Amino acid sequence: MNNLVESIRERYLSTLEKISGAANHVGRDPESVKLVVVTKTQSIEVVRAAIDAGVHILGENYPEEGVTKLKSLRGVSAVEWHMIGHVQSRKAQMVAENYNLLHSLDSLKLAQKLDRFCVAAGRSLPVLLEFNLGNEDSKSGWMASDEILWSALVNDLSAIIALPNLQVRGLMVMPPLGIAAELSRPYFQKLKRLQEYLTSQFPKVDFSELSMGTSSDFEVAVQEGATLVRVGTAIVGVRQYNTEV
Ligand SMILES: *Cc1c(COP(=O)(O)O)cnc(C)c1O
Repeated sequence: MNNLVESIRERYLSTLEKISGAANHVGRDPESVKLVVVTKTQSIEVVRAAIDAGVHILGENYPEEGVTKLKSLRGVSAVEWHMIGHVQSRKAQMVAENYNLLHSLDSLKLAQKLDRFCVAAGRSLPVLLEFNLGNEDSKSGWMASDEILWSALVNDLSAIIALPNLQVRGLMVMPPLGIAAELSRPYFQKLKRLQEYLTSQFPKVDFSELSMGTSSDFEVAVQEGATLVRVGTAIVGVRQYNTEV
């Protein structure tokens, strides 16, 4: 194993251990939490090293960047590729054709586009619904910071659930950036309550996945019920914003 693989492996295993610790702490089965390793802006070498280190779910934020990587690594390993960033309409086809799970579905319009491209591609796409729980203007996702807004979500969500080629699997949140881990806890708790609300509104739909928690707060997220945590820098190091991929 080379040094890069070795160091990613060490941090990957230590993150898995922390996930287990946090799950055990609240009496959850550690196996119920999946670790998505976020490789946005990281070079193909880093992504390959992560795969060699044993990572089997990769998260990317930019559709094209992720597709370049997944195409060049296809055949290397059967890893899952998750899209976790905002998807512009014109990138819908790329996402519909290439990814295993979209964490960040944030509008009915995007859902309808994805559904049409899925038909053309002959596949269906599992999706999570992204919510903006911090009332942040800059953030994508359905505005759901106040419980008073929740009943207004039902129209869009019924239309999404009715799309034949998208499979709704759960919810996703990204709390305000740069806050301490404990300050993320209320956002994670709110996503859990929203999951309960949506389950009561749509009892036949599976909202079981909760994608929440990053390098800075994934242990808190696991304590609050995360089934998918999205960890980048703690495993693959600081982002390479200047590197072409
Ligand atoms: C970048 C990113 C992450 C990972 O953040 P780290 O702080 O590097 O762990 C998780 N989720 C989303 C939506 C991201 O954009």
